[in-house]
Amino acid sequence: MEIQKGVHLLESTKGSFVYLVLDRNEPLLIDTGNPGKHEKIEAELAKLGVSLNDIAHILLTHSDVDHIGNAKSLQRASGAKVWAPQDDLPYIHGTKKHKGLRRLIGAVVKAEKPEVDATYEPGQHVGSVEMIPTPGHTPGHVSFRYGDILFYRRFGHDQQREDQTSAQLFDSRQSQLEKIIARCGQAIV
Ligand SMILES: [Zn+2]
Repeated sequence: MEIQKGVHLLESTKGSFVYLVLDRNEPLLIDTGNPGKHEKIEAELAKLGVSLNDIAHILLTHSDVDHIGNAKSLQRASGAKVWAPQDDLPYIHGTKKHKGLRRLIGAVVKAEKPEVDATYEPGQHVGSVEMIPTPGHTPGHVSFRYGDILFYRRFGHDQQREDQTSAQLFDSRQSQLEKIIARCGQAIV
């Protein structure tokens, strides 16, 4: 589904959507969906006239398995540069584990770990896509702005004590985000 010119939501990734942004000559994907969706993603891109070889960047919003699920196989097939938040690297690499429900999900649903090629710097732009830090859901969680579209999801906060600090940080960011949403006019939540 084309949300706006050059921005597609890949409907085959229902449950945890992947977005295609046809940014100038460097198409990119935002997130990679639940594990096992590689072929569906490839087929949906092909319908849009995009081959995996065309994908220059894969931007991961955070470390959860439903977002990094196909990162490794898509990386392998496309040669795209994989970006992730620095603070989520230990979770992506599996050296740190989430707590509670996420830990259980992580134990059942496995994703092949991608090689992270680059981490976001403050004020990072990848092509025309701007990274906006939105910690809380995970320590390093990020959102993105492209033109007047904001790729941002609102999450419930973890009840885990150690996550409270980052959850508060997220709350304080929220008003900032609301302003950006108002400016953008269209938000994907
Ligand atoms: Zn998540």
